[in-house]
Amino acid sequence: MKSFVYDALPSRIVFGKGAIESVGDEMTRLDCKRAIVLSTHEQQAAARQLASQLGTFAVGLFPHAVMHTPVEVTDLALRVVEELRADCVISLGGGSTIGLGKAIALRTDLPQIAIPTTYAGSEATPILGETELGVKRTQRTLKVLPEVVIYDVNLTLTLPQGLSTTSGINAIAHAVEALYAKDANPIISALAVQGIASLAKALPVIAEDAANEEARASALFGAWACGTCLGSVGMSLHHKLCHVLGGTFDLPHSETHTIVLPHALAYNASAVPEAMTRLQEALETPEPAAYLFDLAWRLGAPVALHQMGMLEQSLPRAVDLAVSSPYWNPRPVERTAIAALLADAFHGRRPRTA
Ligand code: NAD
Repeated sequence: MKSFVYDALPSRIVFGKGAIESVGDEMTRLDCKRAIVLSTHEQQAAARQLASQLGTFAVGLFPHAVMHTPVEVTDLALRVVEELRADCVISLGGGSTIGLGKAIALRTDLPQIAIPTTYAGSEATPILGETELGVKRTQRTLKVLPEVVIYDVNLTLTLPQGLSTTSGINAIAHAVEALYAKDANPIISALAVQGIASLAKALPVIAEDAANEEARASALFGAWACGTCLGSVGMSLHHKLCHVLGGTFDLPHSETHTIVLPHALAYNASAVPEAMTRLQEALETPEPAAYLFDLAWRLGAPVALHQMGMLEQSLPRAVDLAVSSPYWNPRPVERTAIAALLADAFHGRRPRTA
């Protein structure tokens, strides 16, 4: 066996149907009595319900989280945190709301309880991406890792079918890249395989029956496993491409991950035989890259960047950005091959390599 280093992330996970009932107890464990509850505008009813469940333990709401964690929104939220004299932050929602909670924690050191309602996985990572003047900057610091994460399947039953698929494939992408990360290790690789298998089995069931609790629980467990992979080891080509496409061309987060993943995996396949064998087992297919493309297609998710409004004339700039300061990648990042990869992703062609 190869030598490895594994850094365990210090986070408490509470997983189960109805687990949201334990938020008050978790606050008490953290010695907190005055929570601010964060959400998006769309999820404010759920946030309000949580606040009323918490009674005097909730001192206010901030239902203004948006995608990409703009610092203007964080500044606004910080003022409310101060006015309310909040002693902890509860983030109820997807990666956007959890991102806001992390941005507040970074600046205040307040403890966070994250209650994820998508499969994006941000709650399990010490990573924060923030946007200022249209530029997205990402940092990795334990200061932003939520102290407690509460996974309650009931909260995911309302996740729309389309977002369930793309958010689930977004999570799979974290685990796929973990399998061939520079700092891959056997613990995270085992978790990656388990997370990928859980999501790949659950997503088709959810697409047919959004209220299937067994499949929803399996997907939520997969989201935790895959998010933990992202939080524990480095990212490669797939995440670099998604950061370029999301950051510069303002393409939507989970859809972009869904479109790019099969192509990034096909690009790296020949350089990562061990990871490919694990993926073949997890997905029960000889062709993991094509399988992931077909999965998205079959479940009605977008498979082409042009479907997201990207213009063909933007491709050369995307290639330039992707090859300049690339993340570490198991296969060298070559301009011609990256241009072919992005053209395939743009047009929605099925990936060619196994
Ligand atoms: P999101 O949080 O933006 O949510 C998308 C929409 O779905 C929102 O309107 C939200 O209110 C709604 N929604 C969420 N859960 C719902 C539910 N159960 N029922 C009904 N509606 C629901 O989407 P996301 O994909 O979870 O997060 C994307 C953001 O997270 C991006 O900004 C991305 O950069 C960030 N992210 C960060 C990390 C990290 O480790 N830092 C990891 C993954 C994603």
